[in-house]
Amino acid sequence: MSAKKMALVWFKTNLRLRDNECLVKAMAENDEVVPFYCLDDALLGTTKYGFKKTGVIRLKFLKESLQQLDEDLRSLGSGLVLINGIPEIEIFRIANEYGAQKIYAEKEVAPEELITEKKVADELLKLNCTFLTFECRNLLHSSELPFPVGQLPDTFTEFRKRTEKVFSVRPVLPKPSNIASPNIAPLNLTCLNKLFSKEVTVDPRTAIQFKGGAKAAHERLQYYFFETQSISTYKETRNGMVGERYSSKFSAWLALGCISAREIYEEVRKFETIYGANESTYWLIFELLWRDYFGLCMEKNGIRYFLRSVSQQPKAANPSKFNAALIQWINGQTGEPFIDANMIELKLTGFMSNRGRQNVASYFCNDLKLDWRYGAAYFEQQLVDYDVCSNWGNWAYLAGVGNDPRPNRYFNIAKQAATYDPDNIFQQLWLT
Ligand code: FAD
Repeated sequence: MSAKKMALVWFKTNLRLRDNECLVKAMAENDEVVPFYCLDDALLGTTKYGFKKTGVIRLKFLKESLQQLDEDLRSLGSGLVLINGIPEIEIFRIANEYGAQKIYAEKEVAPEELITEKKVADELLKLNCTFLTFECRNLLHSSELPFPVGQLPDTFTEFRKRTEKVFSVRPVLPKPSNIASPNIAPLNLTCLNKLFSKEVTVDPRTAIQFKGGAKAAHERLQYYFFETQSISTYKETRNGMVGERYSSKFSAWLALGCISAREIYEEVRKFETIYGANESTYWLIFELLWRDYFGLCMEKNGIRYFLRSVSQQPKAANPSKFNAALIQWINGQTGEPFIDANMIELKLTGFMSNRGRQNVASYFCNDLKLDWRYGAAYFEQQLVDYDVCSNWGNWAYLAGVGNDPRPNRYFNIAKQAATYDPDNIFQQLWLT
């Protein structure tokens, strides 16, 4: 009798069972699979800019997402193994323990994540365990693009125009009906629980109380699309700043992959069939394309994306964590009310609207003239929806140092406040 084919499925930022190519392929090619998540020590550390890599609000969201994933896996006869430590050591250990011959993982594009991926793959070679990766993040698969990633256009408009000509999104992969796994012990959350010295609370003024996991992601989608039909006015409301309906708030669930961009796309099309397509339904897909674009930019540019400046930003100061202007910006004490309101929202909730993010980033780079990477690193710590490609990509874009460098991405803060918060409702919410 031949030995059982055993595979590991490494869940990273694809914490879902539906539309999960890693899981589908692993199940098709093996007898049993062991789903696991590795809480990388590096995620719990401090960046070279002096901020935590992951703040507590995102850790809470991650914990909820893992609990939901475990629950969903158990309902299909499997379960989640949670490990903590240095990935190449811990993953080698469980591959050895389960006698895995293959590991299926989400493909990485950002430099640090690629280094980890390579270290793990190299270690697993010692066990003759094959490392296989799959694209999980974007709406479009790289093979569906009309150009190789290395020839990605330098402007979003060019990217969008060329892509829309051949636009075809592959169907969502169904959720498996059962998963064959060895016996998996109940989820042990000790490594996560010990990170919270007290209960994490999010300020009740928040635009939305996020709860991690695929179930909550789909509930939000149902609410935003079908219960309230808010999507049909998205284009008009998306620059809003107060409340849970002005934009989709899908970002946190997308960042951890509790829902995929393709699942959202499929529901937009369903909505359009029932209620009709309009500029707003198109615009949500347009924004998902921006998300794809930043993912592809990261893949194309790699480490160059994290460099401090091109010629447009020669005078940017290197602030250090204790720079007074940086601290005032973080605490919402710059004296510029529109900026301060947004920064207080971020500090107390882990969220900020897209309009807010653009303004505070522009203010950081153009008015305070600080090194944009410190702003991006603070966002990395703080955002509940932190995504390496979207965060560093948007910051680089606004700082004028991305692949589309232009010096004048300057936001006139007073004008922006007058346009987007004309009655001071947003500023009053956070400044009083
Ligand atoms: P919606 O307006 O409802 O948009 C729907 C989805 O489209 C979003 O969930 C998001 O996935 C995508 N999207 C929209 N705008 C953008 C954009 N400019 N870039 C990339 N994707 C976009 N988004 C993140 O998900 N993670 C980040 O770490 C992040 N950091 C940012 C940093 C800066 C400086 C700026 C200017 C923007 C950043 N964004 C980031 C993009 C954007 O602000 C958020 O995706 C959006 O505000 C989230 O709210 P929403 O889900 O309601 O968005």
